[in-house]
Amino acid sequence: MNFHSDALVFFGATGDLVFKKIFPALFAMERRGHLKVPVIGVARSEWTIEQFRARALASVKKQDGFDSAVFAKLQRRLRYIRGGYSASATHAALRQALGQAAHPLHFLAIPPSVFAGVIRGLGRSGCARGARVIVEKPFGRDLPSARALSATLHTVFDESRVFRIDHYLGKESVQNILVFRFANTFLEPFWNRDYVESVQVTMAEKFGVEGRGGFYEESGAIRDVIQNHLLQVVGFLAMEPPTKTNQESIRAEQVKVFRKIRPLGPGDIVRGQFRGYRREDGVARDSKVETFAAARLRIDSPRWKGVPFFVRTGKRLPTTMTEVLVMLKPPALGKLCPGQANYVRFRLSPDVTIGIGARVKRPGGELIGDPTELQVINHPRGDEMGAYERLLGDAMTGDGTLFAGQDCVEASWAVVQPILGAVTPVHIYEPGTWGPPEAEELTTGVCGCHDPFWLLPRGKKRRIELMDARAIRESPGRLGRCQPQS
Ligand code: NDP
Repeated sequence: MNFHSDALVFFGATGDLVFKKIFPALFAMERRGHLKVPVIGVARSEWTIEQFRARALASVKKQDGFDSAVFAKLQRRLRYIRGGYSASATHAALRQALGQAAHPLHFLAIPPSVFAGVIRGLGRSGCARGARVIVEKPFGRDLPSARALSATLHTVFDESRVFRIDHYLGKESVQNILVFRFANTFLEPFWNRDYVESVQVTMAEKFGVEGRGGFYEESGAIRDVIQNHLLQVVGFLAMEPPTKTNQESIRAEQVKVFRKIRPLGPGDIVRGQFRGYRREDGVARDSKVETFAAARLRIDSPRWKGVPFFVRTGKRLPTTMTEVLVMLKPPALGKLCPGQANYVRFRLSPDVTIGIGARVKRPGGELIGDPTELQVINHPRGDEMGAYERLLGDAMTGDGTLFAGQDCVEASWAVVQPILGAVTPVHIYEPGTWGPPEAEELTTGVCGCHDPFWLLPRGKKRRIELMDARAIRESPGRLGRCQPQS
């Protein structure tokens, strides 16, 4: 399906997602000259078109590089339809507003409870003919509801016309993992169970639930982050090389990884909740919902059998960052390099870094290695595409590479399904710490004496002289040095 969408429709146009992500993405597309179609907002609020435009302006004015001439063009594209999401009158008005458009792209920026009515209305009114649909994560809240959601979508849209947005997949840093893995021959010989001791992926957030306690009570860390973002990253790290770089090949390899991950049992997971969460608005006083989760995954593939993959995420942790650490096994001549072995580190946010932990000889008489990290850092450039801009553009051209397919969604739910809910205890942890101490026990005896880079033991620090990619290009041969600090 190579057609280009000729109209954009946003259900839930008055909402938070449209304000925070969609208007800025549309503005960026307009600035680049990539937006050439009408943009129609649909919602129940009794707004006028002026109010809708004012909302768009309030959103994009906050952006770097705001340009009133660009906004003037964008606002001329905006239309607003007021009405109930399943009401026939709303869909009839939409059909009329679409005019000659034969391939609209419908974005469901609404709570999942409203999806079915919208899908039915699109089908009945003819607005679904020749159209595509974007749905936002969460794709269900467990395996049965994910299947039910797909079944609802498929009553009107076949799978090739469904685009499941997990904005994480649109991030440059996450795509960088794929390129780094498959565009570098040197990696392949050691990217397996013979050389890799463990893999750790963490997504830490310093902030809490920020007034969205009611929303969080319905989700928790496993549903919100592990089932989707962190498993997607594991998929990219663990997959076999795709035969091509197209959507089918990449998704096919990723789903194979998910299907080889053993479903998690109670012994593979530690759940935590930061002290004070139960006092948040919308949170039950006896809530058992986890704001932290750490899990040990086992991938039963020839490449990874026996290599533990640890994934962790939490709120109110000491910092906000996402990082992958692939720890290699120690070399045979351990005396040369006591302590930490080699590793590959991907910092996915807030900066984008690839680091390779190596050893160089300590200056002086001793034949001993000092830890060093070779780094490439990509500082985001002002003209870089944001995830939503990228994903909207891809969906408009029908490129589903960076969207989650139904098979991947179901396979990843199958991994976490056995431990959803209050199957395991929730341990209280202090805000500003790395979660409950019980979580560290998951790695006991596996990571040996390594200090996972992202989970520095209390009191130990590391100093790194950072070099960015341009500096390395300008002075080849220099290394960023990594030194333990007292
Ligand atoms: P909102 O809660 O802001 O809802 C969007 C709009 O839907 C509202 O403005 C409201 O519009 C309408 N709405 C809200 N609740 C109901 C209801 N119970 N029944 C009918 N209509 C309702 O949602 P978000 O914009 O935050 O999110 C939209 C979707 O995107 C959700 O599925 C969410 O899970 C997902 N998402 C959101 C993210 C975010 O950052 N906000 C991030 C990732 C995913 P009106 O009353 O005018 O009709």
